[in-house]
Amino acid sequence: MTSVHELIRGAAARERAELSPATGPGKPQLVPAGRKPIALRATGVSSCDTELADDPWAIDRAPGYGPGASAADDIPALAPRQGPLPAEYTGASDAELTVRIIAAKAALGDRVQILGHFYQRDEIVQHADFVGDSFMLAQAAKQHPEAEAFVFCGVHFMAETADILSGPEQAVILPNLAAGCSMADMATIEQVEDCWRDLTATLGTAAEGELQPVIPVTYMNSSAAIKAFCGRNGGIVCTSSNARTVLEWAFERGQRVVFFPDQHLGRNTAKEMGIAEEQMPLWRPHLALGGNTPEQLRDARVILWNGFCSVHKRFTVAQIEQARADYPGARVIVHPECPAAVVEAADGAGSTEYIRKEVEAAAPGSVLAIGTEINLVNRLQQQRPDLTIFCLDPVVCPCSTMYRIHPAYLAWTLEALLAGETPNQIRVSDDVAGDSRVALERMLAARP
Ligand code: SF4
Repeated sequence: MTSVHELIRGAAARERAELSPATGPGKPQLVPAGRKPIALRATGVSSCDTELADDPWAIDRAPGYGPGASAADDIPALAPRQGPLPAEYTGASDAELTVRIIAAKAALGDRVQILGHFYQRDEIVQHADFVGDSFMLAQAAKQHPEAEAFVFCGVHFMAETADILSGPEQAVILPNLAAGCSMADMATIEQVEDCWRDLTATLGTAAEGELQPVIPVTYMNSSAAIKAFCGRNGGIVCTSSNARTVLEWAFERGQRVVFFPDQHLGRNTAKEMGIAEEQMPLWRPHLALGGNTPEQLRDARVILWNGFCSVHKRFTVAQIEQARADYPGARVIVHPECPAAVVEAADGAGSTEYIRKEVEAAAPGSVLAIGTEINLVNRLQQQRPDLTIFCLDPVVCPCSTMYRIHPAYLAWTLEALLAGETPNQIRVSDDVAGDSRVALERMLAARP
């Protein structure tokens, strides 16, 4: 049976071969050799949605949240919408956009820093001054007081965190306002406040010297409003790297935790700490008491919000079994946003940083089957050609909202900055930023 990485490599080779007649002296090279991470058109590689081969402005016209991983997610009512880009950008070739981005970036110099998330396509990452996960990038923003603006090639909640941590005079810009995160959008501040009211009414308040009935914990992948809510209510933020440390911090202060918005990270971390599944009720925001009885909530240790990542929930135990059948001895590593059964079946689970370190440390010739976003997996394979690395999911399925940061948006943003404009600035109000900082600082202080 043909493995996934063979499919992808074969597809990329075919695509290069098909494009080669168009390249040559005087002709633009449409696809830099070996750098096309998501091969769709005319390749035969299956994808979760053929519309992923379309340009993002075609996607933006559709009423849904976007094709691909988040195809089933409705666009949130208040989600910002990106206005149409001028035709000079939507009609430009890849090569032309690359030249314009490089020229604008050079002219802007140190005034502007481009931040690129690990899950971005290579056509964006190649221009980034920093590449990292959401918190690393927000901290990069903090560490560059000389920059006037940060162009954040990620999704909305990440740009909010960068705005919270950057200086008051620095602008944080999201090149495409429609780049949200379907997981973050699964918990709105109104729903979280309703949940808190119900929990407080059901669980009561702490007597003198007692632990708090419940501590709110939010994953970094949530809106600034929810981070601020946690800051105001004795709670804290976590990342996928420090979720266990943060839960331990919370249990020193409270009898229970309510964990927003990723049920899988919450469940996987709590299981690792020895908490029984029965003590982790799921909170469904549209049901009374989240669909639980008062007894279930009183018996709970971790109340899990019913959110998930559309990319990571696609990984299955069957995919792991298939990878092991294809490659006996393969090491399987997955992200903790994957379902608990997948994490249990894998050889290891951890944050993007953990996955990167595993790849770095792998002996030459090793085979690694990875359960995380396809752009990152493909880039890891490029960095370690001596290893065999492939994505567990046989269907090419990037984070569809990250995918909305197309080079046309980056070129448009940089040229607007060059013209003295500040497009798509993400601003977090002072009160929300202040309370969010409290929750973020608790997280930094809790770090082992
Ligand atoms: S990979 Fe998942 S959690 Fe990350 S931005 Fe995309 S939808 Fe959100």
